[in-house]
Amino acid sequence: MKLTVELGPRSYPILIAPGAMREAGALTAEMRGRAMVAVVTDETVAGLHLDTLRAALEGAGRQVEAIILPPGEATKSWAHLALLTDRLLALGVERGDFIVALGGGVIGDLAGFAAAILRRGCRFVQVPTTLLSQVDSSVGGKTAIDSAAGKNLIGAFHQPSLVLIDPNVLATLPMRELRAGYAEIVKIGLIGDAGFFDWCDANLDAVLARDPAALAKAIETAVRAKAEVVAADEHETTGLRALLNLGHTFGHALEGEAGFSDLLLHGEAVACGMVLAFRLSAELGLCPAADAERVAAHIVRAGLPAHPRDIGLTTDAATLVRHMTQDKKMQGGRLGLILARGIGQAFTTKEVELATVEAFLAKVLA
Ligand code: NAD
Ligand code: MG
Repeated sequence: MKLTVELGPRSYPILIAPGAMREAGALTAEMRGRAMVAVVTDETVAGLHLDTLRAALEGAGRQVEAIILPPGEATKSWAHLALLTDRLLALGVERGDFIVALGGGVIGDLAGFAAAILRRGCRFVQVPTTLLSQVDSSVGGKTAIDSAAGKNLIGAFHQPSLVLIDPNVLATLPMRELRAGYAEIVKIGLIGDAGFFDWCDANLDAVLARDPAALAKAIETAVRAKAEVVAADEHETTGLRALLNLGHTFGHALEGEAGFSDLLLHGEAVACGMVLAFRLSAELGLCPAADAERVAAHIVRAGLPAHPRDIGLTTDAATLVRHMTQDKKMQGGRLGLILARGIGQAFTTKEVELATVEAFLAKVLA
């Protein structure tokens, strides 16, 4: 299955196929650049999947230089960016070459940002290995590192030249990571595709059991939707791409409260945030209460947190609202929220007062 992100001169293909990684050599054969290819990955992924990718690239006459970084969010740092760009320059990577990001969103975001700034811009290929990175972070060209002031605050839009999605690599992914990635899949249904949400509701068990057909359909649907949104609003200026942030404003508040630690994965925070967004929508009379209940039940069934108490957070409404106001989505002192008129009918709004959100959260947390 091949999709294209239509961005004029920056258009690129996304290939989704079981075993696609074995074909990486052929797939990148038409990409020029020298024989040497730098593959950026983390220690965990290197141990599991680097040999497969290396063999595929070497089979096509490339010479692979692996740069292996520690796993975890802490790698999205200035220190690792400096280390990575120094290594890439030492390897003699030129503008015509391409860098391969093999890993989850951490590696994709970091290697993508390095590609964006190395020699004012090198090409890069995304080979995402987590469900989250396959359906979300590898597509769309957002690259970043974290700073002391917050996550993803230093970065660039830099589109990849190719995204290679091999669902087979998910066989080694821990269950908790699989569930977290699933949250970003079901999000696509909740935003604008009620039929896909129905499909998710009916096929949840098969997806989480990594049934190949169910997983492929889920990944394809989510990637296609994201590719369309990115093509229509590459730099998040029209409000369309902002819809992908459903659940993220509440989610970031929960992540902030958890200290961006392993206590709470991003997808888990988004899952809980989506339930809160639907509950607030129902509370405001915008959305049928039955839809909010359906969303909550689905999230619970997926083994994801539907309530802050499921995360074990003891916090209060004022603290969460304070985290929300530190979000990137604040504009002119107004909170940008994604609410819904029902399942598949999300919309952006700046009309909800902070006091209303705080009162809602106080009720939820009571
Ligand atoms: P991650 O990259 O940290 O990967 C999660 C863990 O899974 C890591 O320990 C990794 O080593 C391991 N892993 C990866 N692939 C594996 C495999 N196949 N088998 C076994 N273990 C494997 O986390 P993530 O959830 O993929 O990405 C999170 C990051 O993505 C965050 O930094 C977030 O900000 C970013 N993100 C970016 C975008 C974007 O548009 N650029 C979108 C969403 C998230
Ligand atoms: Mg997200």
